[in-house]
Amino acid sequence: MSNIENFLTASEEGAIVSAIRDAEKDTSGEIRVHIEYNCDTDVFEHAIEVFHYLKMNNTKEQNGVLIYVAVDKKAFVIYGDKGINKSVSDNFWNSTRDTIASYFQKGEYAQGLIEGITKAGKEMSKNFPWIHGDTDELDNTISKG
Ligand code: CA
Ligand code: CA
Repeated sequence: MSNIENFLTASEEGAIVSAIRDAEKDTSGEIRVHIEYNCDTDVFEHAIEVFHYLKMNNTKEQNGVLIYVAVDKKAFVIYGDKGINKSVSDNFWNSTRDTIASYFQKGEYAQGLIEGITKAGKEMSKNFPWIHGDTDELDNTISKG
């Protein structure tokens, strides 16, 4: 993997964006994916910085979830806002993380992200169901840094 553009193909990116859009059909929560080639600090701390940089802390119900990927470290972090953390179990995050990790280990990054997004969306829909008039508060496209 020589650069960030090789991490996901254009069609894989499209499939990930579709997975986010589909997940958000069932939940008012917001899911974003951020991909970074080079992370030279602690990935978890950096994921929190990115979360704020993307203004993901500005959702009405504090129900944004970020999946942050550091390509060089083949590492990722799932970070949810306060509303999410109040409503889902620790086990949920662990099982979502394990799902993504199992695909990453095989080098199936796009599939891992899609499965993780779908799983997160299902869990979020229990406490944050989609309601009529819900707005798409955060862009579904993949952000890169
Ligand atoms: Ca929404
Ligand atoms: Ca969205």
